[in-house]
Amino acid sequence: MSSHTVSSHTGSSRTGSQPPSIAIVDANNFYVSCERIFDPRLEGKPVVVLSNNDGCVIARSQEAKTLGIDMAASWQSIAAEAAAKGVIARSSNYELYGDISARCVELLGRFTSSQEVYSIDESFIRLTGSAEQVSGIAREIRVATKKMIGLPVSIGIASSKTLAKLANRGSKSSAALQGVCNLGSYAPAQVTAILASVDASDVWGIGSRTAQKLAGMGIHTAADLRDTDAVQLRRRFGVNQERVVQELRGVDCLPLEEERSDREQIQFSRSFAVPISTVAELEEVLSVYTQRAAARLREQGSLARMMGCTASTSPFRDNHVSHAVSLAFPDPTDDPVQMYRAAITALGPQLQAGQQYVRVGVSLYEFSSRDSHASLDIFGTAPAPFAAGAVLDSIAAKYGQENLGLGRAGLKTNRAWTMRREMVSPRATTHWDELITVAAK
Ligand SMILES: [Mg+2]
Repeated sequence: MSSHTVSSHTGSSRTGSQPPSIAIVDANNFYVSCERIFDPRLEGKPVVVLSNNDGCVIARSQEAKTLGIDMAASWQSIAAEAAAKGVIARSSNYELYGDISARCVELLGRFTSSQEVYSIDESFIRLTGSAEQVSGIAREIRVATKKMIGLPVSIGIASSKTLAKLANRGSKSSAALQGVCNLGSYAPAQVTAILASVDASDVWGIGSRTAQKLAGMGIHTAADLRDTDAVQLRRRFGVNQERVVQELRGVDCLPLEEERSDREQIQFSRSFAVPISTVAELEEVLSVYTQRAAARLREQGSLARMMGCTASTSPFRDNHVSHAVSLAFPDPTDDPVQMYRAAITALGPQLQAGQQYVRVGVSLYEFSSRDSHASLDIFGTAPAPFAAGAVLDSIAAKYGQENLGLGRAGLKTNRAWTMRREMVSPRATTHWDELITVAAK
């Protein structure tokens, strides 16, 4: 045990000289795994989950992959053949997946103080300790997600996000690793051999077009890319590609984008698996996010004076676009209606139709206690507001998040009702009448 402590650049203290590791925790075949939690008969069988209107395949179990069922295959065209092979299909049940995802985020938070919720089934978390200790924590996380939630996960660990992503591929490709691959526990020559076995096009942040150009320069593998001249690469492709090279060398260039919910700031942001490109979709997302952020604000009994909103396209693509606005409310508020309107008014004009947005975020800050403001009402100066937030919270708690919403999110209910979902599983964690019943003999 080391006797001294050093401070990292983030201000947290750690023991010994080990730099913190970055782990990505990624749920295996997430949608299928969610379906299996409440229907164990699906275990070990080929299962696919279908997109809205049962259109095409958006998730496959390992067994379905082995049978050669293609991602994005049109269900109508393969249904007969798939049924003959014993493939079981489920309509997508986003409410269930969203709830399982939230449980997983909460559980992972118990193992780390730094967490970036990257997508519905992936979180980056920071872990400290020796390589052995960090791998031990990762194994504990796997046991916990399986036991507490029923979700199988794979964990890749390294000194940068890009290498952690690469390690995560490794954790899935070799059964011997039992779902945990920590590059920190390999000798440099072994790491080089691993990187040499990964195509450059499979490196996080390298798009297929860039990969083609790299191949023309003789860069075919992750190891080639790591060992290339970073400055030359920046001249040709830009700073983001240079960062990929640095990250492959183990230099941590992409900070964790933490979501904070504390006494000073509340952040709510997510990356989307599929980019969204219409202003209407973005407004829908902003509406949901402002409601979530406002609900957290009310949970802690605060009012916010300031709000920030961001929307950005992938930083790895050409013509990267990023919008950020901040605004002050006339009076501190926890009202999601006011927040949503303000977000649309401020951010709306900046949004560019046709851009492929992959991340949207809402943050609230400059808090004051709701109680200190309530006392002012004794004098009768403040107009009695319609407490929309509290009403939304109580209805959502009783009937589920998707049954009521503001603005664009409110429209979603109608769309969901008209959606074809013939093979949908119960919303077993969020609806009383769809709870799983268990018979004991
Ligand atoms: Mg996954």
